[in-house]
Amino acid sequence: MKQINLITISLFLLSIFLIAISCNDSNAKPNNKNSKQDVDLVKNTILTQSVTQKNKTNSNVVSNDTITIIGVGDMMLGTNYPASPNYLPKNNNCNTLLEPVIDILKDADVTFGNCEGVFSDDIRYVKKCNSPKNCYRFSMPESYAKCFVNAGFDVVSIANNHLGDLGAYGRKNTVKVLKENKIHFAGLTDYPSIIFEKNGVKYGFCAFAPNSGTCQITDIPKAKNTVKKLKEKCDIVIVSFHGGAEGRNHQHVTRKYETFLGHNRGNVYDFAHSVIDAGADIVFGHGPHVTRAIDIYKERFIIYSMGNFCTYRRFNLTGPSGIAPIIKLYVDKNGKFLKGKITPIYQDKMTGTKLDPQKRAISKIRQLTKKDFPEVEVNITNEGDILIRN
Ligand SMILES: [Zn+2]
Repeated sequence: MKQINLITISLFLLSIFLIAISCNDSNAKPNNKNSKQDVDLVKNTILTQSVTQKNKTNSNVVSNDTITIIGVGDMMLGTNYPASPNYLPKNNNCNTLLEPVIDILKDADVTFGNCEGVFSDDIRYVKKCNSPKNCYRFSMPESYAKCFVNAGFDVVSIANNHLGDLGAYGRKNTVKVLKENKIHFAGLTDYPSIIFEKNGVKYGFCAFAPNSGTCQITDIPKAKNTVKKLKEKCDIVIVSFHGGAEGRNHQHVTRKYETFLGHNRGNVYDFAHSVIDAGADIVFGHGPHVTRAIDIYKERFIIYSMGNFCTYRRFNLTGPSGIAPIIKLYVDKNGKFLKGKITPIYQDKMTGTKLDPQKRAISKIRQLTKKDFPEVEVNITNEGDILIRN
């Protein structure tokens, strides 16, 4: 008992120490990638002293080997097309859109999101729209990649329906900008997967969509092959997909092929289960612009859609389209799901992503998971903890 008290006191003192560090850090360098590296360095130092911040927040199921991974859905921080009206954030500052959630996004070993647009300062190559009235072409200024970096993003998907908005030039330029900013990416046929290492763990990442130029969500045998090869070389394999029909009428996982505007958007259930059969450890879905259910298959985590996370201006944010989760996963060194945490956010059309005091994304995921995956044995608490049912 005395020993337990001592541990409790130590953990309490440690938490004060860590809070002090993170406050100092965010005051000194509020939006700097270095601040994440500094925190990592401090984390690593503390790790050698036998207790980690991760252990502290996750005392029941984790060990020193526990890895934390964050996933969010669509990100488009403002577009320079059309030039008028102006669809860029106030003072051309994309950091403000993510500011309320930056500390949460940075608090993981790996942070992932879907890059729902191209990076380009040159809009000469914008593809013509069939219907100019409803023309949605997303071209983020190249400097906006820094906002992803500042918010702690390590890896992004570029397999989606907007990476082709500026044709071949846009794809090439986006790749160039992501490389310059040292953000890992995958999802184009020329860049189907990536392997990267962080804190001594080797990660494999690949991304899929039903759009031209991207790795195809509908070619499941090929996707399985990509995953299998990654798993042979990596500790943790993360798979991203941009699939399924869009909008409030498509919040449920049908377990069938879904079509939208006459286009086959994949069978996301089959896809997710198949890539796990091939060795995937985490499946992060997005594309429907609404939040969908979670699923646990072979002790691996799936979310079928993480909705609109930070999509400035040209997106419908009404009802279920305006809320979304930040998903934080705790997995073991082999990728097995231990537990998760949903941080609920909502978007204000003009000012970006904010924490949702109404916690709507938590109740939405709980309701959808209960309905679509009654066989999955997890409890989702009011605070957003995702716990395996005993
Ligand atoms: Zn999309």
